[in-house]
This record gives sequence, structure tokens and C-alpha cells, in this order.
Amino acid sequence: MLIHVLSDAKCRKVMSYPFKYHDYFDLDDTLPEEVQMARDAVRSWVDSVVSPVIETHAMEATFDPTWFSELGALGCFGPALPAEDGGQGLSETAYGVLMRELERGDTAIRSMASVQGSLVMYPIASFGSTEQKEKYLPRLGRGDWIGCFGLTEPGHGSDPGSMETRLQKVAGGYKLSGSKMWITNAPVADVAVIWAKKEDGKVQGVLLDLKKEGVKVETISGKWSLRASVTGTIYMDEVLISVDDLLPKATGLGYAFKCLNKARYGIAWGAIGAAMDCYHTALSYAIERHQFNKPIASFQLTQKKLAEMITTISQAQLMAFRLGKLADQGAVTSAQISMAKRAHVEMALKVAREARQILGAMGITNDYPVMRHMVNLETVITYEGTHDIHLLITGHDVTGLPAY
Ligand SMILES: Cc1cc2nc3c(=O)[nH]c(=O)nc-3n(C[C@H](O)[C@H](O)[C@H](O)COP(=O)(O)OP(=O)(O)OC[C@H]3O[C@@H](n4cnc5c(N)ncnc54)[C@H](O)[C@@H]3O)c2cc1C
Repeated sequence: MLIHVLSDAKCRKVMSYPFKYHDYFDLDDTLPEEVQMARDAVRSWVDSVVSPVIETHAMEATFDPTWFSELGALGCFGPALPAEDGGQGLSETAYGVLMRELERGDTAIRSMASVQGSLVMYPIASFGSTEQKEKYLPRLGRGDWIGCFGLTEPGHGSDPGSMETRLQKVAGGYKLSGSKMWITNAPVADVAVIWAKKEDGKVQGVLLDLKKEGVKVETISGKWSLRASVTGTIYMDEVLISVDDLLPKATGLGYAFKCLNKARYGIAWGAIGAAMDCYHTALSYAIERHQFNKPIASFQLTQKKLAEMITTISQAQLMAFRLGKLADQGAVTSAQISMAKRAHVEMALKVAREARQILGAMGITNDYPVMRHMVNLETVITYEGTHDIHLLITGHDVTGLPAY
């Protein structure tokens, strides 16, 4: 069975170094009390529920399905959406902080929340009908139903505008045909937001019940990265779609990009969480581990690594807080989000690689979280727009000249 709850959970080593939540510029102190409380609840859930079992889940490519309802109860699905849309009515900054805390645990957990909140609930809340909102949002917000987002196809990743999935008009609605690949949570999802082209070539967002006749979902196996997250391919063979299943305001590829912007914003914060966990592990290890009768933390070369790690983490935290402020003012641009996503994932990968070196041979084991974060980040650097595509977005923004 793909998913199972672990009974003999293997605890990863408890780190003795006290400053677990490294915030060099005390940025979290600027958060309102309600956001600090939400952060503490998620932090404590990650520490007590996720961290003790995540290494085993990652090794066995499983996850605990009860995490969906627990994430729902913690308000992690669309925290910045209004309460009537299944969210918490918190700020965009609060949403980012919660994604950071989840990814300290594992990228798979943050991905669950990103997909459900930003790629499924957000488009229904923003582009859906009243009936669609009433039917889906409360259930998705609680984690009773699981959603997924189908944009990527086997032949079209960075260039979704060339998608081949088609919506063909027939009596009483449409027929949906095509395939979507690399879809997070597809094998366990109830509903998918699918992006397809109509006969006039315009892209349309569709709500697809994954139990419908003509739909087949296959799990993608063999991933070395994001192993505690389930990924699938959705095949659609002339699936009958009623007009009521179309997202009425999602009438163009730009609407899919609006969803991606929301998720990329969360990733820009989440990657910092992975880096914080790697830094904490490396710092604790370096203080405890002795070579040449001294802690390895006393060597200048180790201190250089640690000092540079906390410097780049702090730079990312500062950029994330500014990004949050702009998002809260409704003034953030998609190019600013692209820059932050790209810079922070690169930063986190560098931190993870340096942390792994500090741990020596132990760094490659699952006694420590570093290698798991490192391989997870290899997905994060590719999904939601690859590293190079985000660079081209910045290039386009500063020159006015598209180079895609
Ligand atoms: C674990 C995982 C989960 C995912 N979850 C989802 C999901 O839930 N929903 C979904 O829709 N998708 C999902 N994806 C897909 C992801 O968004 C795509 O993998 C990503 O957009 C890149 O597409 P691709 O893999 O086809 O790479 P390609 O587009 O084939 O790119 C390959 C390489 O070519 C480069 N390249 C492409 N075009 C250009 C250009 N014009 N100039 C320079 N370089 C270029 C890229 O930067 C990259 O390095 C997921 C992927 C993974 C790995």
C-alpha cells in the first residue's frame, strides 16, 4: 500500500543547541500576536508530529494521510483567503511564515499546503461561481477533500501555452481529453483544477472530479526528491464536463499564472525554512563534534561556512518580509515573486550542501535532515517555474525584452 501511518516511528536525533529558530534580525518580533500564535501552533505540530517520522516516510516514499485534516485544522490551507472562502483571513505575510514553518519539517508538507491553498482553493475562490465556492471551499479548507492542479503535460513544462489538453464542445457541455504529468497529490486527490484549450485556442480552467468516467491517474514512482509527497499523471479520455464545471472567470493562461504566483510566493518563504533546519543541524553538530581535540565549530573554515549560511538566510528573511509587506499592500509584482523564489531556493540549496559537508559522513544519513532537504530542493528549483525561467522573467522585467 502506498500510504500508511507509521507505528514504529524512528525519531531523528534531537539537537541540543538551543537556538532552533534562527532569526538574526528579530524579524518575527514584528509579526502581530495572532500571527506569532499561528506560527507557534504550526511549529509545534511540525516538531511533534512531522519531524519524528519524516525520515522514515521519505525513505519509504509514504506520507500520513491524516496530515491533510491536521493541516486544515491548523489553518494552513489558504491562510490568507477570507474565512468565507475556507481560509483564515490572515495576511499574506502570515501565509509566508506558515509555509516557512512547514518546510522546516519537509518540502512535501509545504507542497501539500501550497497546492491545496494556492493552486486549488485560490482559483475557486477567485474565479469560481458561488455554487462552486459553496461546494468545494469549506471541504478543501478543512482538508476533508484533497485538490490538485494540472498544468504541466508530458510534452509541455516551461511552455504551458503549447498545451495539448483539449475541451471540445458537445451537446450538454464539453469533452475533455489529454494528459497532465507531475501533478502533486493527483493519486490521492478528489478534484483537480485542469487547464485545457477550447476550440478557439483560449485556455480555460476546469474543475474535474477525478472519479469521473474516462479519468485515469497513475502514480509516478522512482523519485529521489520529494519522496514524502505523492505525484501522478492524469489521463483524460473524452471526459464529459458540464458547463457548471468550468471556472467562469478562469478564461486564459494568465489565470493559471495568477495561481502559480500565489504558490511561488509561498515557496519563496518555504525554502528559507528548509535552509533554517539545515543551518540549525550543522551548527549543533559542529559544536558537538570534536576532531583534533576541539569542536569542529572552532575551526575557521567551519565558521566561514556557518557565518555565510546565517548571512544568506538572514538576507532571504529580509527579502521575504519585504515581499510580504508588498503582498499585504496588494503591490507585489510577479517579477518580484520570481526573483525571491529563485534566489531563496538557490540560497537554500547552497546552505544544504554546506551543511552536509559540515556533517561529514553523517551528512549523507537519515539520522539528520540535511540530505533530505537537499534532494527536496532539487524539485523546488524546478517546479513552479524552473530556476532559468525565473532568471528570464527578471531579465524580461529589467530589459523589457523577452528571451524565452
Ligand atoms: C515533484 C514535482 C511536483 C510537481 N508538481 C506539479 C503540479 O502539481 N502541477 C503541475 O502542473 N506541475 C507540477 N510539476 C511540474 C513542474 O512545474 C515542471 O517540471 C516545470 O515547470 C518544468 O517543466 P519540465 O520538467 O517539463 O522541464 P522543461 O520545460 O522541459 O525544461 C527543461 C530545461 O530546459 C530549460 N528551458 C526550458 N525552456 C527554456 C528557455 N526558453 N530558455 C532557457 N531554458 C529553458 C529549463 O529551465 C530546464 O532547465 C511538478 C514537478 C515535480 C518535479
